[in-house]
Amino acid sequence: MILAGNWKMHKTPREAKFFANTLLAMPIKGFKVIVCPSFTALTEVAEVLRGSQISVGAQNVHYERAGAYTGEISVEMLKQIGVEYVIVGHSERRHIFGEDDEMIAKKVRAVLDAQMRPILCVGETKEEREKGITFCVVESQLRQALFGVTRDEASKVIVAYEPVWAIGTGVVATPEQAQEVHEFIRDVISEIYDEEVSRSMSILYGGSIKPSNFLKLIVQPDIDGGLVGGASLNEQFLELGKIMCQVCE
Ligand code: PEP
Repeated sequence: MILAGNWKMHKTPREAKFFANTLLAMPIKGFKVIVCPSFTALTEVAEVLRGSQISVGAQNVHYERAGAYTGEISVEMLKQIGVEYVIVGHSERRHIFGEDDEMIAKKVRAVLDAQMRPILCVGETKEEREKGITFCVVESQLRQALFGVTRDEASKVIVAYEPVWAIGTGVVATPEQAQEVHEFIRDVISEIYDEEVSRSMSILYGGSIKPSNFLKLIVQPDIDGGLVGGASLNEQFLELGKIMCQVCE
């Protein structure tokens, strides 16, 4: 079980450091916590959280090791400051910054090659759900991102199902809607690898998680925690931690 926070383009290094210190009070039993600050706050947050039970992730990375890629950040740059996880294929990267499945697959490869763990985001848009092609979209995103990923490597991948229509909208998927897709994702992973890999993989739900809707989601059999945007920026994240404690203890 994992509780991950995506701080997006919020919090200056000073604000992030302050909040990371607040998070040290979070009771954590039987689950993992990951926070993903912006690049400029990563070093400070990693320093505050070093030796704690909270790990640090980045929100993005470039797939090349180094080179003439103005404005980009490499896996080694992240690794050296203590980053262990990288969000790959977030819907905002796909839809605002035009990242396609091929680029996302290259990023998954780069993260795994650097011995870090990708948090691979997949999910359908509102139009795709209305057309009835949710499974088709999610399967295609998964298969392309995991192309060439070995069975051993696959056990390092965390999948986050984030329906695009639920991200930052206040509209959360119902526990049934989320569970249905999570079960489907597990089936696809079983087909690509086998049931052992599929069972061992954490599949997180993301999209308008709040303390008021979290419990009903994480008690679903195939939901292994949450990737949280808005509610990871303030004391609500500590509330989510308490709810995780209730379920995991
Ligand atoms: C996200 O950014 O991954 C996310 C799920 O955002 P929110 O919780 O704000 O919907």
